[in-house]
Amino acid sequence: MNIVEVKSLYKSYTKSKPTKYAVHNVSLGIEHGEILGLVGESGCGKSTLGALMLKLIEPTKGEIWFDGKNITNLTFRNMRKIRSHMQIVFQGSSNAFNPYHTVRQIISEPMDNYTKFSSAEKERKILACLESVGLGAEHIERYSGELSGGQRQRIGIARALILDPKFVVCDEAVSSVDYGLKKQILKILYDLKQEKGFTYLFISHDMAAINAVCDRVAVMYLGNLVEILPSTDATALHPYTKALMAATLEPDPKIKKKKLVLFNESGDFSYPHGGCPFQSRCLYASEKCRTEDQLLREISDGHFVACHLI
Ligand code: SF4
Repeated sequence: MNIVEVKSLYKSYTKSKPTKYAVHNVSLGIEHGEILGLVGESGCGKSTLGALMLKLIEPTKGEIWFDGKNITNLTFRNMRKIRSHMQIVFQGSSNAFNPYHTVRQIISEPMDNYTKFSSAEKERKILACLESVGLGAEHIERYSGELSGGQRQRIGIARALILDPKFVVCDEAVSSVDYGLKKQILKILYDLKQEKGFTYLFISHDMAAINAVCDRVAVMYLGNLVEILPSTDATALHPYTKALMAATLEPDPKIKKKKLVLFNESGDFSYPHGGCPFQSRCLYASEKCRTEDQLLREISDGHFVACHLI
């Protein structure tokens, strides 16, 4: 059963004509307890889709469902009742900490906002949560400026997960961190999912990170989903997904990055109105690709592709 589902979702930030969409006709469900990877280049709409699922921004059209309830038109006040079940860990979340707050204050913030736990219960939860992200009780009185980047990142995760949310968006949560720390953070997220059954939307442009933790992978290009892979082992079929995979930075830094060879490097990156969104960069594009929309089709169990060649 899906904990989150979006149906025919659109988001546009501009009123210009023809309309440009950051998210274009996206339908996607995330099952209880799964980690769905959402991959694509910077600016493809991944973060917008994550923010829409959390109702941090409003869609232009379409529906958002959470835990069996249509939340598309819920007011801010009514959203508050379910907000504690949804959290986000983002790339710069640790930079947003109040420098005058201790770790205890930072982690307890969601409890202060959404619960009426006693002081003793709060303290017990904070210590347990710190332990779950690999930090000891000695950190509880420290200020964020006294912590290393890795420790701050863990505190950000602890704060997001302290209320055992049903759904967590990890938006580039391991970008801009070194290889060793990335491995540690991915392990923490994965172990917590195994232990507590959290459901994640794991947004990243890093295929190696996606492959390390995700159950399924959705691939986005210019606001459109172009492929949904039923597992990280599944063979990619869409030309864009193949190109992304070919360019994957291997998890071991001693292994050199492979060159991205499948793109038309001089292609037009602007949004085409009509036809396949990847047409201007695809080496296999034909007239049909420019005139006919390519919708996701299920070509085998749980494997969806939007390309008329497949
Ligand atoms: Fe390339 Fe055409 Fe397939 Fe789009 S529909 S990915 S342009 S072959």
